[in-house]
Amino acid sequence: MIDHTSKLPNVGTTIFAIMGQLAAQHEAVNLSQGFPNFGADPKLLELVNSALNKGHNQYAPMQGIYSLREKITGKIESLYNKAYHPESEITITAGATQAIFTAISAFVRPKDEVIVFKPAYDCYEPAIELYGGTVVPIQLGKETFKIDWEVVRSKINATTKMIIINTPHNPSGTLLTQQDMLQLQTVLQGTNIILLSDEVYEHIVFNGASHESVAKYPDLASRSLICASFGKTFHVTGWKLGYVVGPKVLMAEFQKVHQYNVFSVNHPIQVAICKYLEDETSYRNLGKFYEEKRDYFLNGIGTSRFTFKPSLGTYFQVLGYDNITDENDVAFAKRLIKQYKIASIPLSVFNLNNEDNKQLRFCFAKTNDTLDKASEIMNRL
Ligand code: PMP
Ligand code: GLN
Repeated sequence: MIDHTSKLPNVGTTIFAIMGQLAAQHEAVNLSQGFPNFGADPKLLELVNSALNKGHNQYAPMQGIYSLREKITGKIESLYNKAYHPESEITITAGATQAIFTAISAFVRPKDEVIVFKPAYDCYEPAIELYGGTVVPIQLGKETFKIDWEVVRSKINATTKMIIINTPHNPSGTLLTQQDMLQLQTVLQGTNIILLSDEVYEHIVFNGASHESVAKYPDLASRSLICASFGKTFHVTGWKLGYVVGPKVLMAEFQKVHQYNVFSVNHPIQVAICKYLEDETSYRNLGKFYEEKRDYFLNGIGTSRFTFKPSLGTYFQVLGYDNITDENDVAFAKRLIKQYKIASIPLSVFNLNNEDNKQLRFCFAKTNDTLDKASEIMNRL
């Protein structure tokens, strides 16, 4: 047998693949992996069809098609009042995952420290480790998931290269506030720390709150790469199209890696999304759309023994199950699939040392019919 030493000895299969596969095997109602089970706008599908038929089927430019980059400039300017130059400050990527991986690989060197808030989305840490960086985890409290900025300050030293933030936050469904961003700005003053801001759920914010994009804060924006995902925004996670924006000095470095990592990404879909973005209502109404889904789901499980604070953003709801069992969350999530045919994601996999706080994450980006089936099961537990 070939002999090799793993570069990622502690990495197994992602929880999303594990729970998704188990859900399929047991024909469970699948609220585990985050994806909508309803279709995209037929207008968008028609635009893809037309782009294919018009022959946009060869390599796109390395940075992405210019017209789409221009649209992104306009979108960010109108939402957050910050102008990114389409020529030098935007790159279209194969989803946010590639944007995140490429950003980490472009900047993190061996022994560099990267601060990550736990629970954290699972693609950040393997990338940091692969490039020899050290993950500096900060665990957030299980109720509020608030960041204590004094703790962050205490973790910063000369080797801190990057901080990764994510708002709206997966898996907790919480948001960073204006106060958080101002504190972050103060903590980073006078440092050369790069901020990687994962904002894939930027349009999915509830209760009239605003999304606090890093782009709104000039001192933060000047040191940040911001990642976004059209998959999340347009109900097409399988298309894997996203983008990254940031100041020219960071983007030039990002593109040095991007050009050899993927070179360029899906051309006809870029053409279609560029046209689709002419109508802002598609993303401006998304928060309201998912807020109704959240409320439908929470009303549905009203008689269950799960405990919760309503999600403030994303399409995830965290539920506590202390009143149901004291089983470990991974074991309970697996049993829920096998015995009750309902799939979720256990939060411990995203926590520091896999801390088990008896919490599960449920995705409510589902048809009301699916949510009805889910709540019927959950109310029986
Ligand atoms: N970041 C977070 C927080 C996510 O939930 C996801 C999943 N969509 C991604 C990044 C990756 O996005 P994409 O599917 O566009 O690669
Ligand atoms: N973002 C999705 C989630 O959090 C999963 C994407 C993936 O499977 N990697 O559920």
